[in-house]
Amino acid sequence: MHLVPTQEEVVKLLRRTGGLRDGHFEYTTGLHANEYLQVALTMRYYEAAKVLSVGLSRQLRAHSDIRAMIPELSIVTPETAGLPVAYGVCEALRAHQVYWAERENTDEPLRFRQYLEVKPKEKVLLVDDILRSGVRLAELKALVESRGGEVVGVAVVIYQPNPWAVSFDPLPFYYLAKLDAMYYKDAASCDLCKRGIPVEKVWI
Ligand SMILES: [Zn+2]
Repeated sequence: MHLVPTQEEVVKLLRRTGGLRDGHFEYTTGLHANEYLQVALTMRYYEAAKVLSVGLSRQLRAHSDIRAMIPELSIVTPETAGLPVAYGVCEALRAHQVYWAERENTDEPLRFRQYLEVKPKEKVLLVDDILRSGVRLAELKALVESRGGEVVGVAVVIYQPNPWAVSFDPLPFYYLAKLDAMYYKDAASCDLCKRGIPVEKVWI
């Protein structure tokens, strides 16, 4: 395994640990896809989590501006699935702190825990396990900036953009592997449905 794992090594690791499965899946958005990706299933194994976190942190460290900020850098994630990645990257980088945003109900905005203050001009790296639409990360970026923080980059384990994914240009953006799932916008347009392959519903 390379210090920054290759795309092939990451995919192999995901498959071996159950994080990536082939089949026919229906997402909560109604999209149908031929692959199921859940990085959390891979991150439950400490050694696998370490390989991915260290790989991502090495990419980040290679960026001279980010490297210079490490002692004051906050690693912030928009959801619980991003927590193992956030702590892993923080540990590997020896960065300053980790925190996260959450929401009480799906129709409410993201928020930080009570008493959590973002310092003015605080350097913030956004991390998550997967970037698909990027909507949640974009909401987190807006939340950090509304509190006076400065987002300096975005890092995810897997980049699996759907056709309307948000771009974070010109921020530095890092990922370990890019996966292209075959998406169908609904059952009517899904080839797998047409072929009569049983569909599994994705919970989250
Ligand atoms: Zn289908």
